[in-house]
Amino acid sequence: MPLAQTATNVPVTIDDDKCIADKGCTVCVDVCPLDVLRITETPGGKKTAFMKYDECWYCMPCESDCPTGAVTVTIPFLLK
Ligand code: SF4
Ligand code: SF4
Repeated sequence: MPLAQTATNVPVTIDDDKCIADKGCTVCVDVCPLDVLRITETPGGKKTAFMKYDECWYCMPCESDCPTGAVTVTIPFLLK
């Protein structure tokens, strides 16, 4: 699996302001069948989820199960 180079050029993006990984949430990481999401610490010291591996089935539980609506899955035009 290709390692994602930045958090913004991947299909799944996380709104750091909404993510409550700091409070112990790991829902998106836990529900992803491909295990491509991880929790990391931002330069500011806040924990947040991010897409570590640029691989996705667009199955959506990460977005639909996130308790704060922090996850956005961008489905490629050709798959819509
Ligand atoms: S499910 Fe939402 S709040 Fe929880 S770690 Fe993932 S992005 Fe953050
Ligand atoms: S859409 Fe599915 S495969 Fe893609 S990151 Fe979310 S849970 Fe994982």
